[in-house]
Amino acid sequence: MSTYIFGHTNPDSDSIVGAISLSYLKNQLGEDCIPTRQGEISPETEFILNKFGAKVPELKTSYAGENVYIVDFSDLAQAPADIMDATILGIYDHHKLGDLTTSTPLECWIRPIGCSNTVIKEAYDYHSVEIPKDIAGMMLCAILSDTVIFKSPTCTKIDTKAVKELAAIAGIEDYKALGMEMFIVKSAVQGATARELTTRDYKEFAMGSEKLGVGQLEVVDLSVFDNMKDDLFADMKKLKEEGGLHSVILLLTDIMKEGSQLLVVSDDESKIESAFKCKLKDSQVWLDGVLSRKKQVIPFLQPQF
Ligand code: MG
Ligand code: MG
Ligand code: MG
Repeated sequence: MSTYIFGHTNPDSDSIVGAISLSYLKNQLGEDCIPTRQGEISPETEFILNKFGAKVPELKTSYAGENVYIVDFSDLAQAPADIMDATILGIYDHHKLGDLTTSTPLECWIRPIGCSNTVIKEAYDYHSVEIPKDIAGMMLCAILSDTVIFKSPTCTKIDTKAVKELAAIAGIEDYKALGMEMFIVKSAVQGATARELTTRDYKEFAMGSEKLGVGQLEVVDLSVFDNMKDDLFADMKKLKEEGGLHSVILLLTDIMKEGSQLLVVSDDESKIESAFKCKLKDSQVWLDGVLSRKKQVIPFLQPQF
């Protein structure tokens, strides 16, 4: 019986590349693993897979009765609906510990660093398994994506060291230029529907008795959204209704100015204002220096509920 390896819903590059890189490692260690995904890949991930000649992992949303490893999450809200009927053999992640529990012992690699692929790189080193050139290139891209080319406060020395080592394996000299190329691909939002944009990097979180949705779009220049805000707000309202959510927040992150414009649709805007000690104007606010949802947004929202 094969074991499946996958990341969170609305998969980002870390989730897709992590499924691929961890599957290769596990297969070298004698297991039989298949990388899968829970949803469509983003243009950024497509760029990475094309660049290194990798196949898109197969789409699989049901795992009842299967053995699985999960990557880049441990929250039930980001898991397949039947995850509790699967056997979780292990977790490789770099987020807060979520609300998933297991009935059997598991392998748990969760560290407060910039990217799940850095955690997986450490697992390769731990097991003394050589990383193939193409997989090293993809892992490097995933780390540059998650750490916003080392600018995110989630980035650690362990991540920068991992990127340097992976760049040497992949034969990539100017990895920062590759990172910029990737973020320019990520910034091409024209032509995408409002729903594609609000859910491209979107996660739901249980907070107290409420549920919140928080999306993020990282671009090199926020002006790409100038004519889109009304459509984005309209779709956020729909997302909120469909999910019975307390709030939907969208972070429009400018990676050059290093901050985020927050768009808010909420039952109670004052909770968002007190979380970030700010005043919303037209349900929006600029938060200087805010680049990371996991470190600079979620921990401040949680205590409000
Ligand atoms: Mg992720
Ligand atoms: Mg990640
Ligand atoms: Mg991210």
